[in-house]
Amino acid sequence: MREFIISTSAREEIVDITAQVRELVAEEGGGGVSMVFVPHCTCALYLNENESGLVQDTQELLAGLADQKSWRHDRIDDNAGAHLVCSLLGASVLVPVAAGKLQLGTWQRIMLVERDGPRSRRRVQVWLLAEREE
Ligand code: ZN
Repeated sequence: MREFIISTSAREEIVDITAQVRELVAEEGGGGVSMVFVPHCTCALYLNENESGLVQDTQELLAGLADQKSWRHDRIDDNAGAHLVCSLLGASVLVPVAAGKLQLGTWQRIMLVERDGPRSRRRVQVWLLAEREE
């Protein structure tokens, strides 16, 4: 497993982490599956295009899902909306790897969703599950 750190600068932010994952996967080489995982409850991952309009649309969609209600968890630390959005998105994505290269579609990127920032140490783990040698 390899890990890198992302710092975020706003309460809600979407960060393209494809380049960092691509670099680690290239260093390891080989083929198989990379599982990208964040060990956090208020940030999440998804795969999609990094186009500024779409990123804003995604923020708007996520805000509409969870941020306009009064949730029970808000009594503890006022971030229930962040937990709920991240539960729906999930803490990991799987990307196939061949010859040390991520097999993403032309426009696909690995996007980290911050919902309770800013944070200086969002950990991103890359687990490489190697293809069996024939
Ligand atoms: Zn909480």
